[in-house]
Amino acid sequence: MTRITVAKGDGIGPEIMDATLKIIKAAGAKIEIDEIEVGEKVYLSGNTAGIAKESWDIIRKNKIFLKAPITTPQGGGYKSLNVTTRKFLGLYANVRPCKSLHPFVSTKHPNMDIVIVRENEEDLYAGIEHQQTDEVIQCLKLISRPGCEKIVRYAFEYARINGRKKVTCFTKDNIMKQTDGLFHKVFDEIAAEYPNIENEHWIIDIGAAKMADTPEAFDVIVMPNLYGDVLSDVAAQIAGSVGLAGSSNIGEECAMFEAIHGSAPRRAGQNVANPSGLLQGAILMLIHIGQSDVAEKVQNAWLRTIEEGIHTYDIYKDGVSKRKVSTSDFADAVISNLGKAPQTFTPVTYNKSATMNLPKYKRKQPATKDLLGVDLFVHWPGTSADELALRIKEIQNANAELSMITNRGIKVWPEGFNETFCTDHWRCRFKGKAEKGISQKDIIELLSKATQANVDIVKTENLYAFDGKPAFSLGQGQ
Ligand code: NAD
Repeated sequence: MTRITVAKGDGIGPEIMDATLKIIKAAGAKIEIDEIEVGEKVYLSGNTAGIAKESWDIIRKNKIFLKAPITTPQGGGYKSLNVTTRKFLGLYANVRPCKSLHPFVSTKHPNMDIVIVRENEEDLYAGIEHQQTDEVIQCLKLISRPGCEKIVRYAFEYARINGRKKVTCFTKDNIMKQTDGLFHKVFDEIAAEYPNIENEHWIIDIGAAKMADTPEAFDVIVMPNLYGDVLSDVAAQIAGSVGLAGSSNIGEECAMFEAIHGSAPRRAGQNVANPSGLLQGAILMLIHIGQSDVAEKVQNAWLRTIEEGIHTYDIYKDGVSKRKVSTSDFADAVISNLGKAPQTFTPVTYNKSATMNLPKYKRKQPATKDLLGVDLFVHWPGTSADELALRIKEIQNANAELSMITNRGIKVWPEGFNETFCTDHWRCRFKGKAEKGISQKDIIELLSKATQANVDIVKTENLYAFDGKPAFSLGQGQ
């Protein structure tokens, strides 16, 4: 028996959860359930996190969480429970299989069968945003080596134990050479440990276009958080419907399983919603807790039901579908097919013996770190970079010299273009004279002189070399 936490959520959540639990219990799932309340009611009771402390205790004790969709109330102040859960519990891997159900569910891609493995904790989703000037707001994109190693290894291990042939990496490292560059570099390092699995890297824009056009060209695709968020919905939609996909959120200790769609409030209480997305989430959960035999039985019965044309309204199509059914009738149809294999689709078999080899991250030996300079970000409402350079040069000292000014990343001094549009947010780069670097004391001196000269510094960013290699971007046009 495995004790799991269940949240029935909002909108259609309770109906699809009841249907899902009924099916997996009928299939012999060995689970005991602790139910918790999350979502709208909790939010509206004044808890902006949407979950009570006692519920966290239950989730952390049981470690396995099956969650129906919830409604995040409109208006400010409410935190997304999904994002909070993923980050609090360290659920670093979001896994979303997207396979077409042709010819029973319409799709332009009958042979599509891909799995998106999305990094789930970092990137722009660190949620660190600041307004720095009247005109400019920044969001920090954080990519860490442990984050990259964990997700990329997860993707290769997933491929290995599921007999997948290829892992593709999508990044935008032609532009973000440091952050996405690290993701790509770690991908290449880890790919080398899996000689039997093909690997490739695509720049995200053309990769996404290719995936939307020819998804059969891909197998497992691993990517950083934001790209994965967008493309996993695209993948689910082009496979047939976002209403049919489930996903898992996997951490070192805990895991959460869900449908990918929302709470569809307009359909709530009508017994019409399709429980398939949540059922797919529950199947991923059964595999995760070592009940692959039950997962297999449920998946094959579900495939058989889809094949028989027994469809809820969202996928019902005259000529293809045979019977339009309610949520509960769909669940009963799946239950009556338990033990039967699909006849058109290939019956699934899950690997019951192989387990993933996911060693804990080990911190590397620290590199030699040299301070080469500093970027001072200045709030200045003027428009002439030459004029700003004259003011900023006044704060230089014997060691730290102004070497460049950029505006939104593009070099505007020295030798800028008059045509470049400038905001009130300027990056002034100081470097050590004669390449010898600078000290922290030099930075403090620069800041102190800036205060005296009424220069409004909104942020500083140190420029380092790690093991002798400069580890910061150049100005565009530099
Ligand atoms: P949604 O996914 O709830 O609905 C989009 C469309 O798909 C609607 O037309 C809906 O009727 C249909 N649909 C969705 N699931 C269906 C199902 N199982 N069966 C049949 N039809 C289905 O997206 P939305 O309308 O943008 O969001 C509604 C609420 O859900 C919002 O409060 C949002 O914040 C929340 N939401 C929650 C989650 C989650 O908890 N994981 C995810 C996304 C959205």
